[in-house]
Amino acid sequence: MKVLLLGSGGREHALAWKLAQSPLLTTLIAIPGNPGIAEHARCLESIPLTDHDAIVSICAAEKIDLVVVGPEAPLVDGIADRLAAEGINVFGPRRAPAQLEGSKLFTKELCRQHDIPTAAFGRFSQADAARAYVRERGAPIVLKADGLMAGKGVVVAMSLDEALAAVDEVFAMGTPGTEILIEEFLEGEEVSFFCLVDGETVLPFGSAQDHKRAFDGDQGPNTGGMGAYSPAPVFTAEMERRTLSEIVKPTARALADGGSPYRGIIFAGLMITIDGPKLIEYNVRFGDPECQVLLMRLEGDLLELLHATATGALADERGVSMAPDAAITVVMAARGYPGSYEKGTPIKGVGAAGALPGVHVFHAGTRLEGGHLVANGGRVLNVTAIGANVAEARERAYDAVALIDWPEGFCRSDIAWRALAE
Ligand code: ATP
Repeated sequence: MKVLLLGSGGREHALAWKLAQSPLLTTLIAIPGNPGIAEHARCLESIPLTDHDAIVSICAAEKIDLVVVGPEAPLVDGIADRLAAEGINVFGPRRAPAQLEGSKLFTKELCRQHDIPTAAFGRFSQADAARAYVRERGAPIVLKADGLMAGKGVVVAMSLDEALAAVDEVFAMGTPGTEILIEEFLEGEEVSFFCLVDGETVLPFGSAQDHKRAFDGDQGPNTGGMGAYSPAPVFTAEMERRTLSEIVKPTARALADGGSPYRGIIFAGLMITIDGPKLIEYNVRFGDPECQVLLMRLEGDLLELLHATATGALADERGVSMAPDAAITVVMAARGYPGSYEKGTPIKGVGAAGALPGVHVFHAGTRLEGGHLVANGGRVLNVTAIGANVAEARERAYDAVALIDWPEGFCRSDIAWRALAE
Protein backbone atom coordinates (compact mmCIF):
# COMPACT_ATOMS: atom_id res chain seq x y z
CA MET A 1 0.00 0.00 0.00
CA LYS A 2 1.25 3.49 -0.86
CA VAL A 3 0.72 5.97 1.94
CA LEU A 4 1.04 9.75 2.13
CA LEU A 5 1.51 11.16 5.64
CA LEU A 6 0.79 14.85 6.28
CA GLY A 7 2.63 16.68 9.07
CA SER A 8 6.05 17.36 10.52
CA GLY A 9 5.98 16.84 14.29
CA GLY A 10 6.84 14.15 16.81
CA ARG A 11 3.34 12.74 16.35
CA GLU A 12 3.97 12.22 12.64
CA HIS A 13 7.42 10.73 13.29
CA ALA A 14 5.77 8.18 15.58
CA LEU A 15 3.11 7.46 12.92
CA ALA A 16 5.80 7.04 10.25
CA TRP A 17 7.85 4.72 12.50
CA LYS A 18 4.85 2.51 13.20
CA LEU A 19 3.51 2.57 9.62
CA ALA A 20 6.96 1.52 8.40
CA GLN A 21 6.64 -1.69 10.46
CA SER A 22 3.58 -2.78 8.47
CA PRO A 23 4.11 -5.58 5.95
CA LEU A 24 1.31 -3.93 3.94
CA LEU A 25 3.38 -0.78 3.32
CA THR A 26 5.18 -0.47 -0.01
CA THR A 27 5.85 3.30 -0.15
CA LEU A 28 5.69 6.06 2.46
CA ILE A 29 5.80 9.70 1.42
CA ALA A 30 5.54 12.60 3.88
CA ILE A 31 4.59 16.25 3.39
CA PRO A 32 6.56 18.11 4.68
CA GLY A 33 8.17 15.60 7.11
CA ASN A 34 11.28 16.12 9.26
CA PRO A 35 14.68 14.40 9.63
CA GLY A 36 13.20 11.66 11.86
CA ILE A 37 10.35 10.96 9.44
CA ALA A 38 12.93 10.88 6.64
CA GLU A 39 14.32 7.65 8.17
CA HIS A 40 11.09 5.96 7.06
CA ALA A 41 9.64 8.12 4.27
CA ARG A 42 10.46 10.24 1.25
CA CYS A 43 9.82 13.79 2.46
CA LEU A 44 8.48 16.48 0.14
CA GLU A 45 9.56 19.44 2.24
CA SER A 46 8.63 22.26 -0.08
CA ILE A 47 4.87 21.58 -0.28
CA PRO A 48 2.85 23.51 2.33
CA LEU A 49 -0.07 21.67 3.95
CA THR A 50 -2.35 24.51 2.85
CA ASP A 51 -1.73 23.65 -0.82
CA HIS A 52 -4.50 21.12 -1.32
CA ASP A 53 -4.07 21.14 -5.12
CA ALA A 54 -0.45 20.07 -4.77
CA ILE A 55 -1.41 17.32 -2.29
CA VAL A 56 -4.04 15.96 -4.68
CA SER A 57 -1.51 16.05 -7.56
CA ILE A 58 1.01 14.05 -5.52
CA CYS A 59 -1.67 11.47 -4.71
CA ALA A 60 -2.46 11.07 -8.42
CA ALA A 61 1.19 10.99 -9.55
CA GLU A 62 2.21 8.48 -6.85
CA LYS A 63 -1.02 6.41 -6.94
CA ILE A 64 -1.49 6.89 -3.20
CA ASP A 65 -3.84 4.35 -1.54
CA LEU A 66 -4.24 6.16 1.79
CA VAL A 67 -3.58 9.66 3.11
CA VAL A 68 -2.96 9.90 6.87
CA VAL A 69 -3.52 13.42 8.21
CA GLY A 70 -1.55 14.23 11.38
CA PRO A 71 -2.54 17.78 12.45
CA GLU A 72 -5.99 19.35 12.79
CA ALA A 73 -5.62 22.46 10.62
CA PRO A 74 -5.80 20.68 7.22
CA LEU A 75 -8.87 18.73 8.44
CA VAL A 76 -10.71 21.84 9.58
CA ASP A 77 -9.68 23.35 6.19
CA GLY A 78 -11.40 20.45 4.38
CA ILE A 79 -8.48 18.36 3.07
CA ALA A 80 -10.46 15.14 3.69
CA ASP A 81 -13.43 16.43 1.64
CA ARG A 82 -11.11 17.36 -1.21
CA LEU A 83 -9.32 13.99 -1.20
CA ALA A 84 -12.57 12.04 -0.91
CA ALA A 85 -13.98 13.96 -3.88
CA GLU A 86 -10.98 12.69 -5.87
CA GLY A 87 -11.68 9.12 -4.74
CA ILE A 88 -8.67 8.95 -2.40
CA ASN A 89 -8.96 7.15 0.96
CA VAL A 90 -8.18 9.45 3.86
CA PHE A 91 -7.64 8.85 7.56
CA GLY A 92 -9.10 11.94 9.20
CA PRO A 93 -12.58 13.45 9.31
CA ARG A 94 -14.15 15.78 6.77
CA ARG A 95 -14.68 19.47 7.46
CA ALA A 96 -18.19 19.11 8.95
CA PRO A 97 -17.34 16.52 11.66
CA ALA A 98 -13.94 18.22 12.20
CA GLN A 99 -16.03 21.01 13.74
CA LEU A 100 -15.82 18.88 16.88
CA GLU A 101 -12.41 20.50 17.30
CA GLY A 102 -12.85 23.57 15.11
CA SER A 103 -15.80 24.92 17.09
CA LYS A 104 -16.36 24.49 20.82
CA LEU A 105 -19.91 25.80 20.34
CA PHE A 106 -20.64 23.03 17.82
CA THR A 107 -19.48 20.39 20.30
CA LYS A 108 -21.34 21.87 23.25
CA GLU A 109 -24.58 22.04 21.27
CA LEU A 110 -24.12 18.44 20.14
CA CYS A 111 -23.64 17.43 23.79
CA ARG A 112 -26.75 19.37 24.81
CA GLN A 113 -28.88 17.77 22.09
CA HIS A 114 -27.74 14.23 22.86
CA ASP A 115 -27.40 14.35 26.66
CA ILE A 116 -23.64 13.80 26.56
CA PRO A 117 -22.10 14.60 29.97
CA THR A 118 -20.14 17.87 29.83
CA ALA A 119 -19.85 21.11 31.84
CA ALA A 120 -23.04 23.22 31.95
CA PHE A 121 -22.59 26.28 29.75
CA GLY A 122 -23.97 29.51 28.37
CA ARG A 123 -23.09 31.21 25.06
CA PHE A 124 -22.88 34.97 24.73
CA SER A 125 -22.48 37.60 22.06
CA GLN A 126 -22.64 40.58 24.46
CA ALA A 127 -20.14 41.32 27.23
CA ASP A 128 -22.82 42.68 29.59
CA ALA A 129 -24.88 39.50 29.41
CA ALA A 130 -21.70 37.43 29.83
CA ARG A 131 -20.76 39.36 32.99
CA ALA A 132 -24.27 38.98 34.39
CA TYR A 133 -24.03 35.19 33.87
CA VAL A 134 -20.61 35.12 35.57
CA ARG A 135 -22.04 37.01 38.58
CA GLU A 136 -25.00 34.63 38.75
CA ARG A 137 -22.84 31.48 38.55
CA GLY A 138 -19.85 32.65 40.62
CA ALA A 139 -16.26 31.40 40.55
CA PRO A 140 -14.40 29.23 39.75
CA ILE A 141 -15.69 29.41 36.19
CA VAL A 142 -14.25 28.85 32.71
CA LEU A 143 -14.40 31.27 29.75
CA LYS A 144 -13.64 30.14 26.20
CA ALA A 145 -13.26 31.79 22.81
CA ASP A 146 -14.60 29.76 19.88
CA GLY A 147 -12.40 28.42 17.06
CA LEU A 148 -8.95 26.84 16.78
CA MET A 149 -6.95 28.82 19.34
CA ALA A 150 -3.87 26.58 19.78
CA GLY A 151 -4.46 26.25 23.51
CA LYS A 152 -4.70 30.00 24.08
CA GLY A 153 -8.46 30.50 23.99
CA VAL A 154 -9.36 29.41 27.51
CA VAL A 155 -9.33 31.25 30.85
CA VAL A 156 -9.93 29.19 33.99
CA ALA A 157 -10.89 31.96 36.45
CA MET A 158 -10.57 31.04 40.10
CA SER A 159 -12.15 34.27 41.44
CA LEU A 160 -15.14 36.37 40.43
CA ASP A 161 -12.94 39.44 39.77
CA GLU A 162 -10.70 37.40 37.53
CA ALA A 163 -13.71 36.01 35.65
CA LEU A 164 -15.27 39.46 35.16
CA ALA A 165 -11.98 40.88 33.95
CA ALA A 166 -11.54 37.96 31.52
CA VAL A 167 -14.82 38.59 29.64
CA ASP A 168 -13.48 41.35 27.36
CA GLU A 169 -10.19 39.50 26.99
CA VAL A 170 -11.92 36.31 25.79
CA PHE A 171 -14.16 38.26 23.36
CA ALA A 172 -10.98 39.82 21.93
CA MET A 173 -9.33 36.38 21.42
CA GLY A 174 -11.99 35.10 19.01
CA THR A 175 -12.92 36.30 15.54
CA PRO A 176 -14.85 39.60 15.89
CA GLY A 177 -18.59 39.00 16.14
CA THR A 178 -18.31 35.42 17.41
CA GLU A 179 -19.86 34.23 20.64
CA ILE A 180 -17.95 33.13 23.71
CA LEU A 181 -18.69 30.17 25.97
CA ILE A 182 -18.88 30.30 29.73
CA GLU A 183 -18.70 26.93 31.46
CA GLU A 184 -19.13 25.34 34.81
CA PHE A 185 -15.73 24.55 36.38
CA LEU A 186 -15.25 20.77 36.53
CA GLU A 187 -13.22 19.30 39.34
CA GLY A 188 -11.28 16.08 38.90
CA GLU A 189 -8.39 14.52 37.04
CA GLU A 190 -7.94 15.09 33.30
CA VAL A 191 -7.49 12.18 30.91
CA SER A 192 -7.15 11.86 27.16
CA PHE A 193 -8.99 8.93 25.59
CA PHE A 194 -8.62 7.91 21.96
CA CYS A 195 -10.92 5.88 19.69
CA LEU A 196 -10.81 4.89 16.04
CA VAL A 197 -14.16 5.70 14.43
CA ASP A 198 -15.12 4.63 10.89
CA GLY A 199 -18.52 6.27 10.85
CA GLU A 200 -20.28 3.43 12.67
CA THR A 201 -17.79 1.31 14.57
CA VAL A 202 -15.88 2.74 17.54
CA LEU A 203 -12.70 0.96 18.70
CA PRO A 204 -10.90 2.18 21.84
CA PHE A 205 -7.24 3.06 21.20
CA GLY A 206 -6.03 3.70 24.76
CA SER A 207 -5.71 6.47 27.29
CA ALA A 208 -2.97 8.93 28.20
CA GLN A 209 -2.26 11.91 30.40
CA ASP A 210 -0.09 14.85 29.46
CA HIS A 211 1.72 17.69 31.18
CA LYS A 212 0.83 21.06 29.69
CA ARG A 213 2.90 23.37 31.91
CA ALA A 214 6.49 24.19 31.01
CA PHE A 215 8.17 23.47 34.34
CA ASP A 216 8.37 20.83 37.08
CA GLY A 217 5.51 20.62 39.53
CA ASP A 218 3.09 21.64 36.74
CA GLN A 219 4.31 25.23 37.09
CA GLY A 220 4.94 27.93 34.49
CA PRO A 221 3.23 28.82 31.23
CA ASN A 222 1.04 26.49 29.17
CA THR A 223 2.73 24.68 26.28
CA GLY A 224 1.75 22.26 23.53
CA GLY A 225 2.68 19.49 25.98
CA MET A 226 5.96 18.71 27.80
CA GLY A 227 5.41 14.98 28.19
CA ALA A 228 2.83 12.23 28.42
CA TYR A 229 2.32 8.68 29.56
CA SER A 230 -0.03 5.82 28.76
CA PRO A 231 -2.12 4.21 30.12
CA ALA A 232 -3.67 6.72 32.56
CA PRO A 233 -4.11 4.88 35.89
CA VAL A 234 -7.26 6.90 36.75
CA PHE A 235 -8.94 5.66 33.57
CA THR A 236 -10.17 2.30 34.81
CA ALA A 237 -12.02 -0.27 32.70
CA GLU A 238 -15.27 1.02 34.22
CA MET A 239 -14.44 4.63 33.25
CA GLU A 240 -13.63 3.45 29.73
CA ARG A 241 -16.92 1.56 29.48
CA ARG A 242 -18.86 4.62 30.64
CA THR A 243 -16.98 7.00 28.36
CA LEU A 244 -17.67 4.79 25.36
CA SER A 245 -21.35 4.37 26.10
CA GLU A 246 -22.13 7.87 27.45
CA ILE A 247 -19.80 10.06 25.38
CA VAL A 248 -17.95 8.67 22.34
CA LYS A 249 -20.53 6.29 20.87
CA PRO A 250 -23.42 8.80 21.16
CA THR A 251 -21.21 11.40 19.46
CA ALA A 252 -20.32 9.09 16.57
CA ARG A 253 -23.99 8.10 16.23
CA ALA A 254 -25.17 11.73 16.28
CA LEU A 255 -22.70 12.69 13.55
CA ALA A 256 -23.57 9.67 11.38
CA ASP A 257 -27.32 10.24 11.82
CA GLY A 258 -26.81 13.92 10.94
CA GLY A 259 -25.19 12.92 7.63
CA SER A 260 -21.60 13.78 8.69
CA PRO A 261 -20.05 10.44 9.69
CA TYR A 262 -16.74 10.74 11.54
CA ARG A 263 -13.78 8.82 10.12
CA GLY A 264 -10.47 9.03 11.91
CA ILE A 265 -9.17 9.10 15.44
CA ILE A 266 -11.34 10.89 17.95
CA PHE A 267 -9.52 12.33 20.95
CA ALA A 268 -11.78 12.97 23.93
CA GLY A 269 -10.37 15.33 26.56
CA LEU A 270 -12.17 14.22 29.72
CA MET A 271 -12.49 15.25 33.33
CA ILE A 272 -12.92 12.28 35.64
CA THR A 273 -15.28 13.82 38.20
CA ILE A 274 -16.97 12.24 41.21
CA ASP A 275 -20.00 11.76 38.95
CA GLY A 276 -17.94 9.98 36.31
CA PRO A 277 -16.37 11.09 33.02
CA LYS A 278 -17.36 14.45 31.51
CA LEU A 279 -16.28 15.78 28.16
CA ILE A 280 -14.08 18.89 28.20
CA GLU A 281 -13.26 18.96 24.51
CA TYR A 282 -12.81 16.86 21.40
CA ASN A 283 -9.83 16.89 19.09
CA VAL A 284 -10.02 15.35 15.64
CA ARG A 285 -6.48 13.93 15.48
CA PHE A 286 -3.95 12.14 17.62
CA GLY A 287 -2.53 14.19 20.47
CA ASP A 288 1.07 15.32 20.29
CA PRO A 289 2.85 13.95 22.39
CA GLU A 290 0.14 11.41 23.41
CA CYS A 291 0.39 9.66 20.03
CA GLN A 292 4.01 8.77 20.73
CA VAL A 293 3.18 6.84 23.91
CA LEU A 294 0.09 5.16 22.42
CA LEU A 295 2.06 3.90 19.42
CA MET A 296 4.87 2.57 21.64
CA ARG A 297 2.23 0.33 23.24
CA LEU A 298 0.34 -0.61 20.08
CA GLU A 299 0.64 -4.26 19.10
CA GLY A 300 -0.37 -5.20 15.59
CA ASP A 301 -0.54 -3.36 12.33
CA LEU A 302 -1.20 0.40 12.45
CA LEU A 303 -1.61 0.65 8.68
CA GLU A 304 -4.28 -2.05 8.64
CA LEU A 305 -6.21 -0.18 11.37
CA LEU A 306 -5.92 3.24 9.72
CA HIS A 307 -6.95 1.85 6.34
CA ALA A 308 -9.93 0.05 7.88
CA THR A 309 -10.94 3.31 9.59
CA ALA A 310 -10.71 5.26 6.34
CA THR A 311 -12.71 2.70 4.37
CA GLY A 312 -15.46 1.94 6.90
CA ALA A 313 -14.16 -1.58 7.60
CA LEU A 314 -13.38 -1.38 11.33
CA ALA A 315 -16.14 -3.87 12.13
CA ASP A 316 -13.96 -6.52 10.47
CA GLU A 317 -11.01 -5.78 12.79
CA ARG A 318 -10.48 -7.76 15.97
CA GLY A 319 -9.99 -4.56 17.98
CA VAL A 320 -6.91 -2.62 18.97
CA SER A 321 -4.36 -4.53 21.00
CA MET A 322 -2.28 -2.45 23.41
CA ALA A 323 0.63 -3.91 25.40
CA PRO A 324 -0.11 -3.87 29.14
CA ASP A 325 3.23 -2.06 29.58
CA ALA A 326 3.57 1.64 30.37
CA ALA A 327 5.04 4.16 27.96
CA ILE A 328 6.26 7.67 28.66
CA THR A 329 7.59 10.49 26.56
CA VAL A 330 9.72 13.40 27.73
CA VAL A 331 9.67 16.46 25.50
CA MET A 332 12.99 18.25 25.06
CA ALA A 333 12.36 21.88 24.16
CA ALA A 334 14.53 24.86 23.27
CA ARG A 335 15.34 27.08 26.28
CA GLY A 336 12.85 29.95 26.33
CA TYR A 337 9.95 27.87 24.92
CA PRO A 338 6.98 28.57 24.97
CA GLY A 339 8.31 32.16 24.74
CA SER A 340 11.09 33.15 22.34
CA TYR A 341 13.92 30.71 21.73
CA GLU A 342 16.92 30.18 19.48
CA LYS A 343 16.91 27.94 16.43
CA GLY A 344 19.89 26.23 14.80
CA THR A 345 21.61 25.02 18.00
CA PRO A 346 23.43 21.68 17.52
CA ILE A 347 22.11 18.45 19.05
CA LYS A 348 24.26 15.34 19.58
CA GLY A 349 23.73 11.92 21.10
CA VAL A 350 20.29 11.15 19.64
CA GLY A 351 21.57 7.91 18.12
CA ALA A 352 23.06 6.68 21.41
CA ALA A 353 19.88 7.63 23.30
CA GLY A 354 17.65 5.81 20.80
CA ALA A 355 19.84 2.68 21.02
CA LEU A 356 18.94 2.07 24.68
CA PRO A 357 16.51 -0.82 25.22
CA GLY A 358 12.85 0.17 25.00
CA VAL A 359 13.70 3.73 23.90
CA HIS A 360 12.78 5.64 20.79
CA VAL A 361 13.61 9.29 20.14
CA PHE A 362 11.02 10.98 17.94
CA HIS A 363 11.90 14.20 16.15
CA ALA A 364 9.59 17.20 16.38
CA GLY A 365 11.31 20.52 15.54
CA THR A 366 14.64 19.40 14.08
CA ARG A 367 16.44 19.88 10.78
CA LEU A 368 19.73 18.80 9.25
CA GLU A 369 22.35 21.44 8.59
CA GLY A 370 25.39 20.21 6.69
CA GLY A 371 24.53 16.66 7.78
CA HIS A 372 24.30 17.65 11.47
CA LEU A 373 21.14 17.70 13.53
CA VAL A 374 20.06 21.13 14.83
CA ALA A 375 17.02 22.47 16.67
CA ASN A 376 14.34 24.00 14.46
CA GLY A 377 11.43 24.75 16.77
CA GLY A 378 10.18 25.04 20.35
CA ARG A 379 9.45 21.39 21.04
CA VAL A 380 12.36 19.56 19.47
CA LEU A 381 12.67 15.91 20.57
CA ASN A 382 10.34 13.38 22.23
CA VAL A 383 12.39 10.90 24.22
CA THR A 384 10.00 7.97 24.51
CA ALA A 385 10.35 4.70 26.41
CA ILE A 386 8.33 1.61 27.24
CA GLY A 387 8.70 -0.53 30.36
CA ALA A 388 6.93 -3.13 32.46
CA ASN A 389 5.58 -0.27 34.60
CA VAL A 390 5.70 3.54 34.74
CA ALA A 391 8.78 3.57 36.98
CA GLU A 392 10.78 1.44 34.54
CA ALA A 393 9.61 3.39 31.49
CA ARG A 394 10.48 6.66 33.20
CA GLU A 395 13.96 5.50 34.23
CA ARG A 396 14.66 4.41 30.66
CA ALA A 397 13.43 7.71 29.22
CA TYR A 398 15.53 9.82 31.57
CA ASP A 399 18.62 7.60 31.01
CA ALA A 400 18.16 8.39 27.33
CA VAL A 401 17.68 12.12 27.98
CA ALA A 402 21.04 12.08 29.83
CA LEU A 403 22.77 10.87 26.65
CA ILE A 404 21.50 13.79 24.58
CA ASP A 405 24.03 16.58 24.34
CA TRP A 406 22.09 19.77 23.72
CA PRO A 407 23.06 22.57 26.12
CA GLU A 408 20.39 24.91 24.71
CA GLY A 409 17.58 22.45 25.43
CA PHE A 410 15.56 21.66 28.56
CA CYS A 411 12.97 19.18 29.72
CA ARG A 412 10.84 18.54 32.77
CA SER A 413 12.30 16.05 35.25
CA ASP A 414 8.94 14.90 36.68
CA ILE A 415 6.94 13.51 33.76
CA ALA A 416 4.39 10.92 35.01
CA TRP A 417 4.66 12.04 38.65
CA ARG A 418 0.94 11.59 39.09
CA ALA A 419 0.97 8.01 37.78
CA LEU A 420 3.81 7.15 40.18
CA ALA A 421 1.95 8.71 43.09
CA GLU A 422 -1.17 6.58 42.46
P1 ATP B 1 -7.79 26.20 22.55
O1 ATP B 1 -9.12 26.27 21.95
O2 ATP B 1 -7.30 27.51 23.06
O3 ATP B 1 -6.79 25.44 21.74
P2 ATP B 1 -8.23 23.92 24.16
O4 ATP B 1 -8.92 23.36 22.99
O5 ATP B 1 -7.04 23.25 24.70
O6 ATP B 1 -7.89 25.41 23.91
P3 ATP B 1 -9.95 23.20 26.32
O7 ATP B 1 -9.34 21.86 26.22
O8 ATP B 1 -11.41 23.34 26.20
O9 ATP B 1 -9.31 24.19 25.29
O10 ATP B 1 -9.46 23.83 27.70
C1 ATP B 1 -8.07 23.91 28.01
C2 ATP B 1 -7.84 23.47 29.44
O11 ATP B 1 -8.60 24.26 30.35
C3 ATP B 1 -8.28 22.04 29.72
O12 ATP B 1 -7.27 21.12 29.37
C4 ATP B 1 -8.58 22.07 31.20
O13 ATP B 1 -7.40 21.95 31.96
C5 ATP B 1 -9.11 23.46 31.39
N1 ATP B 1 -10.58 23.44 31.32
C6 ATP B 1 -11.34 23.60 30.23
N2 ATP B 1 -12.64 23.53 30.50
C7 ATP B 1 -12.74 23.28 31.83
C8 ATP B 1 -13.83 23.12 32.74
N3 ATP B 1 -15.09 23.20 32.35
N4 ATP B 1 -13.53 22.90 34.05
C9 ATP B 1 -12.25 22.84 34.48
N5 ATP B 1 -11.18 23.01 33.67
C10 ATP B 1 -11.42 23.23 32.37
